[in-house]
Amino acid sequence: MNRHIAIYPGSFDPFTNGHMDIVKRGLEIFDTVVIAVARNSEKDSLFSVNERTEMITELVNNNPRVQVESFDGLLVDYVTAKEARVILRGLRAVTDFEFEFQLAQMNHTVCEQVETLFMMTSPACAYLSSSIVKEVGRLGGDISSFVPKLVAEKLLEKFNQAD
Ligand code: ADP
Repeated sequence: MNRHIAIYPGSFDPFTNGHMDIVKRGLEIFDTVVIAVARNSEKDSLFSVNERTEMITELVNNNPRVQVESFDGLLVDYVTAKEARVILRGLRAVTDFEFEFQLAQMNHTVCEQVETLFMMTSPACAYLSSSIVKEVGRLGGDISSFVPKLVAEKLLEKFNQAD
């Protein structure tokens, strides 16, 4: 069991500065952070899992301490297969709490050695979510301060295609 790896799972549709903030801060504590894109989030997503995985891989820029993967099925099974025991999640507001609490309890019940650790959002990212970024982008708003440049470009491409 590797105590120095954190699995950071999510939809990341798309990856925002808020996600990057959690990854960077996670790396201050863990040797390796695995960004795990959930395959079951494919439905209703703007970017395919492959597009998301490729984008994030480019963004972490070959940092040997960050891995980017996608996973299918139960998160705890994936965590165990990676020989990890920590799930890293971010919390923005109380509204995140209920869902995250349930998820963490469920995962811990299904697999006792798996623990979920929460990192509070940085104030600058508190209001940031993938869905709000998509909404603002779709309506033609400036999203350059919410997402990495690459993501802003890809979003623009998507919305131009949709027109
Ligand atoms: P999910 O669909 O699993 O919630 P998301 O991609 O929306 O996936 O989020 C992945 C994780 O990142 C979640 O733990 C979420 O709370 C966290 N997160 C998202 N945005 C922020 C942010 N701005 N600040 C801190 N944590 C965030």
